[in-house]
Amino acid sequence: MNQLSFLDDDPPASSPVDWSPTRSAGIARQEYFVPYAGRAYARARNFDLAATDRTNISCLSPWIRHRLILEQEVVASTLAKHTFAGAEKFLQEVFWRSYFKGWLEQHPAVWMSYRRELRRSLDQLEQSKPLRARYEDAITGRTGIECFDAWARELVELGYLHNHARMWFASIWIFTLRLPWQLGADFFYRHLLDGDPASNTLSWRWVGGLHTKGKTYLARPSNIARFTNNRFDPTGQLATVATALKEPDSGPSISLPSAEHLPIDVPYGLLITEEDCHVESLKLKRPPSGLIALAATNRRSSLPIGEPAQAFARGAVEDGVARAETHFSIEKSEISDLENGDRGWGKELIVFALRTDVKLIATAYAPVGPVAEELAAARTVLAAAGIRLIEVRRPYDDAAWPHATKGFFKLKAQIPKLISVLN
Ligand SMILES: Cc1cc2nc3c(=O)[nH]c(=O)nc-3n(C[C@H](O)[C@H](O)[C@H](O)COP(=O)(O)OP(=O)(O)OC[C@H]3O[C@@H](n4cnc5c(N)ncnc54)[C@H](O)[C@@H]3O)c2cc1C
Repeated sequence: MNQLSFLDDDPPASSPVDWSPTRSAGIARQEYFVPYAGRAYARARNFDLAATDRTNISCLSPWIRHRLILEQEVVASTLAKHTFAGAEKFLQEVFWRSYFKGWLEQHPAVWMSYRRELRRSLDQLEQSKPLRARYEDAITGRTGIECFDAWARELVELGYLHNHARMWFASIWIFTLRLPWQLGADFFYRHLLDGDPASNTLSWRWVGGLHTKGKTYLARPSNIARFTNNRFDPTGQLATVATALKEPDSGPSISLPSAEHLPIDVPYGLLITEEDCHVESLKLKRPPSGLIALAATNRRSSLPIGEPAQAFARGAVEDGVARAETHFSIEKSEISDLENGDRGWGKELIVFALRTDVKLIATAYAPVGPVAEELAAARTVLAAAGIRLIEVRRPYDDAAWPHATKGFFKLKAQIPKLISVLN
């Protein structure tokens, strides 16, 4: 048993998480965890027990983020074992991802400003030796704040951190170490198996008081000691105030782009990316003439991407391709070099279209982030060659995203309705 007492619906003895980037590993983890997604989760989810004991949280985020398993599958399997009220907390967490994705989709300027300011901060690192030294200490776990240093190493080694540790880490980064938040977000994004433009960027902004304007998150030593079971106690080492960060207004929100539909009677080639590795559930009306896979993992940052994160994204795409080949009875697809940086996606896709003899390429909708940027650039190149690109959006996103205009609570109020519509 883990060290806490969770009463009758305790998870069984801790077993290491199998982080394999396959749908079957994700489904296995889902089946293991869902029985405890009710009261046990609500009671114990905030404890960061240890990297070797993840019995109190699902650890499903890497699979959900790459859509190896789908949000609605997690929701359905949870409701098959619990009532809505019994698993409400867990279900709400699942919808936080939808909220962040939908919100960023309607505020793309926030992503662009993050990327711009990150470049500026990286330039500053080149120019200022003291800043560079403080940054290096933080990312290599040499600040002298034991918990922070342990989390920095855990992130690099495993590609995963507990949600509470992510909040404490971001808070210490911003308010105690006083480093630019964009550098911290970049460090997470480069190393997390679930590294995601929306959840990551907006969570960092939330901690710094930029998402919910003026409301910050302060990491407190007593809270860290309690929720790490006294593994850590940084008393006297942390900032005691967290004054909200400020930034210029990033401009108004935009409307969600309208959904595109695949024509029934036109042959097409199918592109698989790390944004969605379950294309067989896209409800495409006819099988594609060919498959191609491309990855944009290296575009997460100009700094190197962590090996675990890189391997997870690549494995997820390869697993997606293997299943799609079986599902659509396609013998051979193109995944020769997933990161086709030099040639660019546009040219890569033109060659694919010519070889497959299609004038239309379909792919799952890519939300704001590097894949969407690659697709936007490719769209122009393809159009010049007379090839159309269509991004197919899932009904789940179509239903949830319009509610992600303000704070989470607006979307939260819609969760029961969303679940019944999606059922
Ligand atoms: C600073 C910071 C950075 C983060 N960066 C990322 C990121 O890059 N990618 C990412 O997927 N999550 C990110 N999160 C959100 C959250 O920490 C992870 O989704 C969660 O820890 C994943 O662990 P789990 O699957 O065990 O979650 P559980 O507690 O078991 O929750 C179930 C599912 O709900 C979703 N979820 C839970 N909490 C959140 C949340 N706060 N925001 C969005 N979705 C949530 C995830 O899909 C998760 O798998 C970040 C949080 C913080 C504070």
